[in-house]
Amino acid sequence: MKHTHIVIFTIALLSGFTSCAQQKPVEKKTSFPEEEKIELSESEWKSRLTEEEFEILRKKGTEYAFTGKYWNNKKDGVYTCAGCQLPLFDSSTKFRSGTGWPSFYQPINEVNVAEEKDTSYGMVRTEVLCARCGGHLGHVFPDGPKPTNLRYCINSASLNFEEKGAEAKP
Ligand SMILES: [Zn+2]
Repeated sequence: MKHTHIVIFTIALLSGFTSCAQQKPVEKKTSFPEEEKIELSESEWKSRLTEEEFEILRKKGTEYAFTGKYWNNKKDGVYTCAGCQLPLFDSSTKFRSGTGWPSFYQPINEVNVAEEKDTSYGMVRTEVLCARCGGHLGHVFPDGPKPTNLRYCINSASLNFEEKGAEAKP
């Protein structure tokens, strides 16, 4: 008899948990479409990328501060992924962070930049990656300027730059 009670109680508890989980508000963050993702082997990436791009995008390396090609770039345009050309950041959201890496307060589109928890080097950081090819871009920190208060700290080597109006010229 006692045993039956415990079983019933357990079932009630479990179904209670299930319905709680279902009632939780669904996070409204749409993710990058699976079918559009790019997956290449290590050797395919090696043949596509420069040595530095490979080291950073595919091996999660970091370029030295103030050495990249874009930390001080003030031109208008769009920063795309150096691995797959997906648009990632607009120059209008770039700001002077003083870190020596290109810094942005928001991605061009939330869906294009994926986030992952990174606990390497004894730190807890949020890694940011290209949502299409999985290339390592850099990290995002909660000490950026308004309106987002975020600082996307990105390696120049992970980016290409398409200057606004550059294509329109004859
Ligand atoms: Zn990419």
